[in-house]
Amino acid sequence: MSYYNNRKEERPEVETSIWACTNDDCNGWMRENFTFEKKPVCPLCQSELKKDKKTLPQIN
Ligand SMILES: [Zn+2]
Repeated sequence: MSYYNNRKEERPEVETSIWACTNDDCNGWMRENFTFEKKPVCPLCQSELKKDKKTLPQIN
C-alpha cells in the first residue's frame, strides 16, 4: 500500500497575481483570479489588501 508514498505529485509552479493582506500579523491572501471585487478585503481580518505576487502551483 505504500508504493506511491514517496512520490509527490508534480505541479508546475507559476508566478501568480494575488491580493496580500496589509496587516503584518495576518497571513491572509487571495488569488486575484478568484476575486471579483475591485477592492477586496482580507477574508481573515477584513484589512485592506494590496496586489502582490506569489509562486503557486498552477491550477487549471
Ligand atoms: Zn488579514
